[in-house]
Amino acid sequence: MFELNKLPGIGPKSAERLTHFLLAAEPQEVLALADALRNVKDKIHPCRQCFHLAEGELCAICADSRRDAGLICVVEQPKDVASLERASIYRGLYHVLQGRLAPLDNVGPEKLTLDALVRRVQRGGIREVILATNPTLEGDGTALYVSNLLAESGVKLTRLARGVPSGSVLEFANNQMLADALEGRQAF
Ligand SMILES: [Zn+2]
Repeated sequence: MFELNKLPGIGPKSAERLTHFLLAAEPQEVLALADALRNVKDKIHPCRQCFHLAEGELCAICADSRRDAGLICVVEQPKDVASLERASIYRGLYHVLQGRLAPLDNVGPEKLTLDALVRRVQRGGIREVILATNPTLEGDGTALYVSNLLAESGVKLTRLARGVPSGSVLEFANNQMLADALEGRQAF
């Protein structure tokens, strides 16, 4: 089962354990799992509004009327949304850039969802945009670029506090670190 081996966090031992589990499972259980895997590619696509992962037009967060639609937290990847949601401290909406500016890797502004972000802000109703790109050189550069794009909009721009140590990624920050970083956010 070399395919299992390719999954993140699955070494040869875990792959072997999974293989034994699958062999022992009922056929319909294995087929249900295969369907679920196929659905990831067939049914999951970027949310029309925020580019987070969605099964419908809108992701579960954008579709939730209890969320504060006046707040947008700008992150690099869907997994950053997952980290912040796990910390359950943030009640606003998100905007997933689908990457960060990386001139050395030929990732320019046109590869990110920046136009959609600007349009969202221009439509109005937004009080604050929180720049929550990773505290890395590229993440900081991206935050700066976004802040310049939105400078004229009149919307309050903030950046996560350095509760998340410089160079680390949101994905690996614990809930308390994320809560501190969000709470201590500062005007950009
Ligand atoms: Zn969404």
